[in-house]
Amino acid sequence: MLVSAKDMLNKARDGKYAVGQFNINNLEWTKAILLTAQELNSPVILGVSEGAGKYMCGFNTVVGMTKGMIETLKITVPVALHLDHGTFEGAKACINAGFSSIMFDGSHLPFEENFAKTTALVNTCEVLGLSLEAEVGAIGGEEDGVIGKGECADPDECKKIADLGVTMLAAGIGNIHGKYPDNWEGLSFETLEKIKAKVGDMPLVLHGGTGIPADQIKKAISLGVAKINVNTECQLAFQEATRKYIEEGKDKVGKGFDPRKLLAPGFEAIKATVKEKMELFGSVGKA
Ligand SMILES: [Zn+2]
Repeated sequence: MLVSAKDMLNKARDGKYAVGQFNINNLEWTKAILLTAQELNSPVILGVSEGAGKYMCGFNTVVGMTKGMIETLKITVPVALHLDHGTFEGAKACINAGFSSIMFDGSHLPFEENFAKTTALVNTCEVLGLSLEAEVGAIGGEEDGVIGKGECADPDECKKIADLGVTMLAAGIGNIHGKYPDNWEGLSFETLEKIKAKVGDMPLVLHGGTGIPADQIKKAISLGVAKINVNTECQLAFQEATRKYIEEGKDKVGKGFDPRKLLAPGFEAIKATVKEKMELFGSVGKA
């Protein structure tokens, strides 16, 4: 069964750990993440960008695939199926398709418009029992066309959005999507502390979890981050393992061309990455 992310994030905030959001791209990704969460008895959030949703033949397909897997693989840990960086239209489509959690990213809109659209979704999600993530202050890097400059969010704007009653809040604190450049200055803990002081109990979300050093991740969790998004790192792990398989010529040996064999090393690499992150975030055994 899919659940709202509300309870798992409130528990994480109180327990000083974070729940990982791992973005999915296909069947292998979804299966690898669900199985790892179950093996480690960890709550998990499956992230789906609008681009990935389109790639997987639409949000209905994603919901059907995920629910089917949860049943067949006997997954009993809490799983939230979450729209990542959704538009207002995308949020509506995911609500209709049966997602259990929504992110509306209005951070690139004028603040008043972000505020108004987030307000509308707060009310809808409340009625339907879905969790809602809002974003203030664009996060650096590129994610499905939403581009920002690595800025830090305004703590007062964070408070205004948090007070609407969203479940969790993503705010730029110098984090970046994708690979971090060599001259990256690190997370702005000063900004994080100011935001935390304004928003109180609101679980905070750290996007761009790929490549942030472990000590900075731990400090961010200690300052109120309860959800951390990982996307690129699983892609790089999959790529590396698949490349190795091909370069070693294993696809040309016996039935090595069978997709179930060809994709297996990448699948295992995703599992290993998810395990490493769940251990770092402290969510192991917290289901
Ligand atoms: Zn993000």
